[in-house]
Amino acid sequence: MQDDPALTAIDDQLAAASVDVDRLLAGAGVRSGPDLDIAAAPAWVQTSIAAMGRAIEDGTLQVCQHLIGPQPCAVRAEVPTRLVCLSCFAQARAYRTCASCGAPAGAPPPGGGVEDLMRVWVVLHSRVLCMSCASPADPG
Ligand SMILES: [Zn+2]
Ligand SMILES: [Zn+2]
Repeated sequence: MQDDPALTAIDDQLAAASVDVDRLLAGAGVRSGPDLDIAAAPAWVQTSIAAMGRAIEDGTLQVCQHLIGPQPCAVRAEVPTRLVCLSCFAQARAYRTCASCGAPAGAPPPGGGVEDLMRVWVVLHSRVLCMSCASPADPG
C-alpha cells in the first residue's frame, strides 16, 4: 500500500541509491544483493550493524553532514557509530585502522591491507585489515 506520492519518491530514491552502491561494489569486485540475510552475514558485519542499531536507539549515531536524504552511505567497522557519505568514506581510506589490531592500515590495497566490503540495503559496510592480520586463508 504505497499510494502516497511522497513514499513512492522515497522508494525511487532508495532504489537509485541501491544501484549506486551496486555499481561501487561491482567496481570493487564485490557481489552482494539487497536481499542479504543479515543472520548469514560475516560476524564483523553483524557486529557493525548491532553497534549502529544501539547508536540509533540511544541517539549517539553520528551522521556526516553530506547525508541529507536516502542515498548510499557507508559504515566503517572501526567506527560503526558513524554513518558517512561515499565521498567521506573514500577520503577516510588513507587514515583507516586495522579492524583486528587497530594499527594504521596504511595506503589503499593492494599495498595497505585488505578491505572487505558488504552491502546491506543502501549501507556499505567496510572493514580493513592490515597486511599482518589479513591472511589469504582467512574467510573473514
Ligand atoms: Zn560526507
Ligand atoms: Zn592488524
